[in-house]
Amino acid sequence: MLTYITMSNQYIHNFGAGPCILPISVTEKAADAVRNWNGMGLSILEVSHRSAAFEEVMTKTGLLVRELLGVPDSYEVLFLQGGASRQFEMVPQNLLQGAGKKKAAYLDSGYFAQKAIKQARLFGEVQIVASSREKAYSYIPSNYSVHHDAAYLHVTSNNTIEGTQMLDFGNFGIPLVCDMSSDIFSREIKVSDFGLIYAGAQKNLGPAGMTLVIVKKDLIRTVIYPLPAMGDYRVMASNNSLYNTPPVFSIFVAMLNLLWLKDQGGVAAIEKLNIKKAETLYAAIDQSELFYGTANLSHRSKMNVTFRCYDQALEEEFLSYVTGRGIVGLKGHGSVGGFRASLYNALPLHSVDYLCQLMGFFEASVKLKAKSRFIANQTTSS
Ligand code: PMP
Repeated sequence: MLTYITMSNQYIHNFGAGPCILPISVTEKAADAVRNWNGMGLSILEVSHRSAAFEEVMTKTGLLVRELLGVPDSYEVLFLQGGASRQFEMVPQNLLQGAGKKKAAYLDSGYFAQKAIKQARLFGEVQIVASSREKAYSYIPSNYSVHHDAAYLHVTSNNTIEGTQMLDFGNFGIPLVCDMSSDIFSREIKVSDFGLIYAGAQKNLGPAGMTLVIVKKDLIRTVIYPLPAMGDYRVMASNNSLYNTPPVFSIFVAMLNLLWLKDQGGVAAIEKLNIKKAETLYAAIDQSELFYGTANLSHRSKMNVTFRCYDQALEEEFLSYVTGRGIVGLKGHGSVGGFRASLYNALPLHSVDYLCQLMGFFEASVKLKAKSRFIANQTTSS
């Protein structure tokens, strides 16, 4: 495990929120394929998306998604472009406008939910079923009702910026659409609970560039009006995601990453490790007198752990302390500040242990400095 090192021989622990850490074996295989893919004398970056070799990659990646998430045959698995943000538009464009429906329901649980709501309003009426905005999105709202005439309910399973995660999705008798960008493949889910799932690739799936959409075929059939081709699920499904040139490299690396996940024992096994990592870090935060977690205890995310210093003046200092010791990507999102440790699938437990250790050392040094100042003050005043 000597790949993640800098020129000065420092091991790098990547807590970035996305694009994020990938398994070393995956980046190595990707690098090999960039040089010479399968001994073909061509780089993966040079092969045609219509070649038999790449079509095999597409098929294999689709099958791995199906196998690892238990996707029923009644669902399409699509590899699209435009990131999760493009799905903020495509979902209402298809399921509201394209289906001739008037209204959709949205749960306002964070920054990205807000962005999805803003786009949906371009295509129809939006019912906000509940919002945690007034408390800086520190919890996931519950006990809400949904208009029965809404075309779908849109939720965000994991709020990447605020560090909250949904445990219970409820059943409201209308299709559930879920933005799973930051926790797909990190925990077991029942795909049949959802009408449509989407996720930008750049967390637990692979590098940025590809967006995964898993959509119930029945739901696509509700789309009856013409739509621009690139935004039409029907077109993408009937062309096996090859209507235009797909993000070849991104799909290829996703395939390698999903093979890695399968080797780890699949989603159930990685979920156990993810729970252990999150419990380790939350325990360190909770026993600290310097740091505190910002998310409501019962909605704490196992993927993105958000925390702050009680004394915010120390936050810069802590960041430079850990940065100087090989930790990257810990700075919280600009809209919330503080820290965010992202614990995606490829992050090893030893990186979490290391962060906890540094938090302990830093806290001890802060206490020691405070004590020395106190003693110095006592001496000068006596
Ligand atoms: N939804 C969630 C939950 C996210 O975390 C992100 C990005 N990190 C997005 C949407 C936006 O994704 P993209 O940048 O792929 O459009």
